[in-house]
Amino acid sequence: MHSSASDGAYHSRDLVRMAIEKRLAAISITDHDTVAGIGAALEAAEGSDLELITGIELSAVLDAREVHLLGYFIDPTARPLQETLALLADSRTQRARQIIAKLTTLGLPLHWEKISDAHQANGVIGRPHIARALINEGYVRSVEEAFTLYLGHGAPAYVPRYKLSPAAAVKLILEAGGLPVLAHPLDVTDLVPTLVEQGLAGIEAFYRGYTLGQISELLSLAKRFKLLTTGGTDFHDDGQPGSVAMGSVYVPANTVDKLRARLSR
Ligand code: AMP
Ligand code: ZN
Repeated sequence: MHSSASDGAYHSRDLVRMAIEKRLAAISITDHDTVAGIGAALEAAEGSDLELITGIELSAVLDAREVHLLGYFIDPTARPLQETLALLADSRTQRARQIIAKLTTLGLPLHWEKISDAHQANGVIGRPHIARALINEGYVRSVEEAFTLYLGHGAPAYVPRYKLSPAAAVKLILEAGGLPVLAHPLDVTDLVPTLVEQGLAGIEAFYRGYTLGQISELLSLAKRFKLLTTGGTDFHDDGQPGSVAMGSVYVPANTVDKLRARLSR
């Protein structure tokens, strides 16, 4: 799930509290391109029965296709990871300023301070933060409208951002002692054989909205390549279109044991 360290609605410590209240056995907070939420989450989980797995979701791109890599059990202090995350955060900030300049040209000025206040210190700025600022100024009615009219690919204030290759993302996760897992993989299953050669450890087989047929297809793919299978809700927020409640996607109870067994190998 995602916290306010990236584009989630809740602080990471509140996600942990909510998970404990729901009596979940294990969760991972996998913020986009940042580990800034992990410390507070670990503190909040201390002394509880909840198993909190350190995590991240790295955005990568290959031939104009988005590939998201989850890193489970990463060491958030690992040097190469920290250095790359700092580069990615800088490039996100630059890009946010470019988007705001374009919006100003379009007659929709925004205050930089309000946007940088809207995201947590040390967290990363994404287009969802700018979308919320556009709503607050009354320029658009919804995040969806902000993306369609201004921020989405091909829209007038669109600015691309620097992204890793999937191979580089896999390598960074491995170097941080983590397990690289391909997130919501239905559209990118053709990349699996190459990613396996690069060190992919698993794929996300249980995901919000996936049908039983799709899940069983992913389970056979995992079996063919000796991959682990994981799952989750990709929880960002309550009440956003397409979002589902925390803990509402079934993931087999032995998943964490299997991840741990792979780690110790
Ligand atoms: P960024 O990381 O700044 O490129 O923004 C990507 C994030 O924006 C994604 O993780 C989604 O949460 C969100 N997003 C992308 N496209 C849309 C859309 N059409 N409507 C609403 N949110 C979107
Ligand atoms: Zn997100």
